Amino acid sequence: MDVIASLQSAIDIVSKLRDLSKKLENADFKMLLADLSMELSDAKLEMANLKVMLATTIEENEKLKSSLNQRSSAKPKLVDGAYSFEGEDGAFCTACWDTKQQQVRVTEQSGAFRRFGKWRCPSCQAAFG
Ligand SMILES: [Zn+2]
Repeated sequence: MDVIASLQSAIDIVSKLRDLSKKLENADFKMLLADLSMELSDAKLEMANLKVMLATTIEENEKLKSSLNQRSSAKPKLVDGAYSFEGEDGAFCTACWDTKQQQVRVTEQSGAFRRFGKWRCPSCQAAFG
């Protein structure tokens, strides 16, 4: 059962009671009904906030779970000074994977640049291998 829906029913009941109480002349009773109505409205608002917080938390949790899965399922091998992932062509940056779990494909350096390293990462600009 939806908590917000049941709070709304309670609020509706209170407003019916308030209509009924107009026929009565008991000030305490009317004041208590007004208090109850306010408390229920606060509870409903708070519950709506909690619902939003819960949805955000669930979303974050899913993101964390999937990044954890990716991390454990992708185990790179060191080939030629760069990482190689099973089922993926090319060589990948070791620094980007080790620090950010990002698969960044490196480019092979040519000519004079080659003395700085065989590979160059387009993301972190590292030359290595
Ligand atoms: Zn990199």
